[in-house]
Amino acid sequence: MRKDFRINNEIVKAGESKVVHFSLPALHSETMVTMPVHVVHGKKDGPVLLVSAAIHGDEINGVEIIRRLLSLDAMKRMKGTLLAVPIVNIYGFNSHSRYLPDRRDLNRSFPGAGSGSLAGRLAHIFLTEVVALADMCIDIHTASIHRDNLPQIRADLNNEKLNTMSNKFGSPIILHSAPPSGSLRAAANQVNVPVMVYESGEALRFDELSIRVGVRGVLNVMNELEMHSKSIHRKQKPPVILRSSTWVRATTSGILRAVVTLGDLVKKGDVIGYISNPASKSDTIVEATTNGIIIGRTNIPLIYEGEALFHIGKSQQTKLIEEHLDTLNNDTLLNPPELVEEPVIV
Ligand SMILES: [Zn+2]
Repeated sequence: MRKDFRINNEIVKAGESKVVHFSLPALHSETMVTMPVHVVHGKKDGPVLLVSAAIHGDEINGVEIIRRLLSLDAMKRMKGTLLAVPIVNIYGFNSHSRYLPDRRDLNRSFPGAGSGSLAGRLAHIFLTEVVALADMCIDIHTASIHRDNLPQIRADLNNEKLNTMSNKFGSPIILHSAPPSGSLRAAANQVNVPVMVYESGEALRFDELSIRVGVRGVLNVMNELEMHSKSIHRKQKPPVILRSSTWVRATTSGILRAVVTLGDLVKKGDVIGYISNPASKSDTIVEATTNGIIIGRTNIPLIYEGEALFHIGKSQQTKLIEEHLDTLNNDTLLNPPELVEEPVIV
């Protein structure tokens, strides 16, 4: 029989599932706060995979991805252990905010410290008591408020394990990037837990496509880690790998009329938007600053000079990008039988 799993002074026996509550600093209303961690401890040996979401409290696609994952029958038969944390930043989630009440960004507060700021304390508890128990982690994000991201993995592809798992996830795009300082990715790396980030959709919104690519992606990674009782063989196109990206910023304040959207291919010098004043006859043209694909954009047309408008991933793999976008638009591969759920419509 497989050994018990120990977490937060609790024991989860092989073949059992349990929700473990970590105590966090209370609210000033004398309300207690806990962070629920769902533990599925399979009967058979295997790796420990952590899936986390809402480190930015308003990024909620991952909360739904985890709900769907935990509801799958396959979880009852899995090998290894799944740790699922639907909401890491409980404070921000409850106030519909990216940040913590101390106005800090949790994903710039790692590794944190037990005697640090509120954000630092939460980062410290999460890193030392949850992340450290895992062999690898998939951390789920969306674009920030009023912005949208094409489904993409962000990872340091120089890490061999992350390179393999990122390729298996099945998102159309992988953006290679070194972990930002203070992020979970950077801190977990220091304790030898590789973390890949799945980024897709918009803050405070559900996006069915992002959710489906995410659920399928986590299952694909579990498959590669041999956590499924029966391995799944899915034919997948190789992802488009972006080695770098750049933001096109507004050269003037005004109102933006975007003429490209997520997934569009652009060439350096293409017109991708116009900025004008509310009633002016003249436009300032926004041009693509490089060849590539639009992987992120602002959804709010009211902009200040310097604001990030379009995120362009640099790539020459035009044909492969087009094939992926066709798949995302109409492929039944996105709807394998084990994932059938009533789609959310917004
Ligand atoms: Zn985020």
